This record gives sequence, structure tokens and C-alpha cells, in this order.
Amino acid sequence: MRDEQCIFCRIAAGEVPCAKIYESERLLAFLDIAPSMKGHTLLVPKEHYRTLLDLPSDLGEEILAALKVVGRAVMEGTGADGLNFGVNTNAAAGQVVMHAHFHLIPRFAGDGLKL
Ligand code: 5GP
Ligand code: ZN
Repeated sequence: MRDEQCIFCRIAAGEVPCAKIYESERLLAFLDIAPSMKGHTLLVPKEHYRTLLDLPSDLGEEILAALKVVGRAVMEGTGADGLNFGVNTNAAAGQVVMHAHFHLIPRFAGDGLKL
């Protein structure tokens, strides 16, 4: 499954460059092009699903494992004190790219970031 117009499908296919953090057969993590904080990373399924609500449940275990691996790597790489995991679902909730993705946003004590 792929959407020709979708930027994350094009990144997953290697047609658009990204700063890759992690890759498995079904998942990819890369740096956000407009980071809310240094090290802001996105984890996406390589296949096109519109939102988290559309993800096949059999991907759940692999996604959780990847969120943990990538989350630890991002924290180590940035020296962050914490991390926000986020999933915007539908435009009303702030989703702009309609290909399901997880935000991992490093947080630093007293950084003042408002999400
Ligand atoms: P959303 O608002 O849909 O939850 O978040 C989409 C995220 O994708 C935004 O943080 C935005 O900066 C990021 N993004 C959009 N286009 C690109 C791109 O071409 N490359 C990368 N690396 N990130 C992108
Ligand atoms: Zn897509």
C-alpha cells in the first residue's frame, strides 16, 4: 500500500532523502524537517496508513519495541532529560501529514517548550 502523493511514502521508498535514525522491514525513523526541539524524530510504518486508528494491530508490538529503541537512542544522542511521544490523529488534532506517524520529542529540564 502506497500513496503516490504522500511525502512519508516517498521517504520510505528512498525517493526523498531523510536523516535516518532507525530502519526495520516495516518501520522507519528519521529526523523531523522542522523540529520542535533538537533531535525531534518521527517513527512511521513504511506502508501507507492514514492514522494510528488505521494501523494493523499486528504491528503494535513492533512499534512499541521500536519506540523504545528509538526513544533511548534519541535521548542518548541529544542528552535529553525526557521525551514526549505524540500522535496527532486527523486534521482537527493537528495532523498535517496523513500517513500515520509517532513524534518523539526530546525534552530538557526547563526548556519551556509548549506542545
Ligand atoms: P503532524 O503535524 O502531521 O503530526 O506532523 C508532521 C511532521 O512531519 C511535522 O513535524 C513536519 O515538520 C514533518 N515533516 C513534514 N514534511 C517532512 C519531510 O519532508 N521530511 C521530514 N523529515 N519531516 C517532514
Ligand atoms: Zn504515505
